[in-house]
Amino acid sequence: MFDKILIANRGEIALRVIRACREMGIQSVAVHSTADADAMHVRMADESVCIGPPSGTQSYLSIPAIISACEITGAQAIHPGYGFLSENANFVQIVEDHGLTFIGPTAEHIRIMGDKITAKDTMKELGVPCVPGSDGGVPDLAAAKKIGEEIGYPVIIKATAGGGGRGMKVAKTAADMEQSFMTARAEGKAAFGNDEVYIEKYLTTPRHIEIQVFGDGKGKAVHLGERDCSLQRRHQKVFEEAPGPCITEEERARIGKICADAVAKINYIGAGTIEFLYENGEFYFIEMNTRLQVEHPVTEGIFGVDLVREQIRVAAGLPMSFGQDDLVINGHSIEVRINAEKLPNFAPCPGKITQYHAPGGLGVRMDSALYDGYSIPPYYDSLIGKLIVHGRDRPEALARLSRALGELIVDGIDTTVPLFHALLEEKDIHTGEYNIHWLEKWLESNLGNS
Ligand code: ADP
Repeated sequence: MFDKILIANRGEIALRVIRACREMGIQSVAVHSTADADAMHVRMADESVCIGPPSGTQSYLSIPAIISACEITGAQAIHPGYGFLSENANFVQIVEDHGLTFIGPTAEHIRIMGDKITAKDTMKELGVPCVPGSDGGVPDLAAAKKIGEEIGYPVIIKATAGGGGRGMKVAKTAADMEQSFMTARAEGKAAFGNDEVYIEKYLTTPRHIEIQVFGDGKGKAVHLGERDCSLQRRHQKVFEEAPGPCITEEERARIGKICADAVAKINYIGAGTIEFLYENGEFYFIEMNTRLQVEHPVTEGIFGVDLVREQIRVAAGLPMSFGQDDLVINGHSIEVRINAEKLPNFAPCPGKITQYHAPGGLGVRMDSALYDGYSIPPYYDSLIGKLIVHGRDRPEALARLSRALGELIVDGIDTTVPLFHALLEEKDIHTGEYNIHWLEKWLESNLGNS
């Protein structure tokens, strides 16, 4: 086992990893930008190293600075958290070239899944059901129109290098194709330096269901059921739950096995998420994330396992501490993402926290790096906390969420907390009847948000 791990991240996810390290008796090293000198992850780690100025590119994304921090502190392994360098295959290669261990999948797997066309081809070959669409990249408008005719409108044009909801355009009819095709290409080029696009059938009312998988890198893998992340704004998740309110035990076992077998076949190591759109009882693969997800705590909630601990174990060459048969669902978990954003337009709202009080009690988990008097810097993501609740069933979890939100105090800035209070008043949230468009429609009619 490692003696010391460096966490190449900040905020709540850095704390999450430090906590796992401490329980395992492993020393932790925080890295930080000058803007984060007073951040909680710096205070909580055993050691810390300043790696650059505020801008992410010059600090949390600076590979030489992070490798140097490992050399200075003697850290043997790096946990990337999510975002930043977590899905950068080049970084993984450099980490390994320096004799260090990357806590995550291999550079090769990150590369395969990072390119959406290669990912889809690979998954198709591994027996995972995919959205009907073009076979690989679409070279020009004529080819795009031909595919549109074949699979039928509406279609979605996606940049193969896309991510975070960018580089995707819907063409409702053949008349939209030219504009949507050109825009998706231009966005792909501008944001990711790659204008290759592919086309998929656009599903009109799907849910977003993702399967958590975990592999030991030696041909053994399990699945930890699904998370329903259908409540999204601009393709960004806002509210996540496990198990999915509409997924049956048979469906879970079937799609879970397909996913676990697929990653076992490629000797996948560590945590991964296979994302699907789900409509009329069918699952359609959209992408795989080769890292820990923001919403991993809801899975931890229902299975009672520590996914970060497990990531560290397999990275150190130890076997997984559970097999498929040990994974039994207990109750229901929900996470809401609390962002420093002002409603109704979700404008970023960094600033000084004048008072902070985290909710507590049975079944409540608050993953946040906030503290009284903390100043949220304006340079990074607006996620400031995740409130996760667990109950014996979905109604109990929803009641607990409402109660916990009522206890939470974050003064001095605006947050997305009022959104969740309002959502908990909605019948559809209680019946679980929502799809990936539900929230945007709700925002439009209730907050005038577009
Ligand atoms: P990103 O990598 O940018 O997150 P994804 O491929 O994961 O892109 O898609 C993000 C979201 O876009 C999905 O959760 C879903 O809401 C929507 N989406 C993607 N593909 C389709 C599709 N074929 N039909 C309908 N909606 C889609």
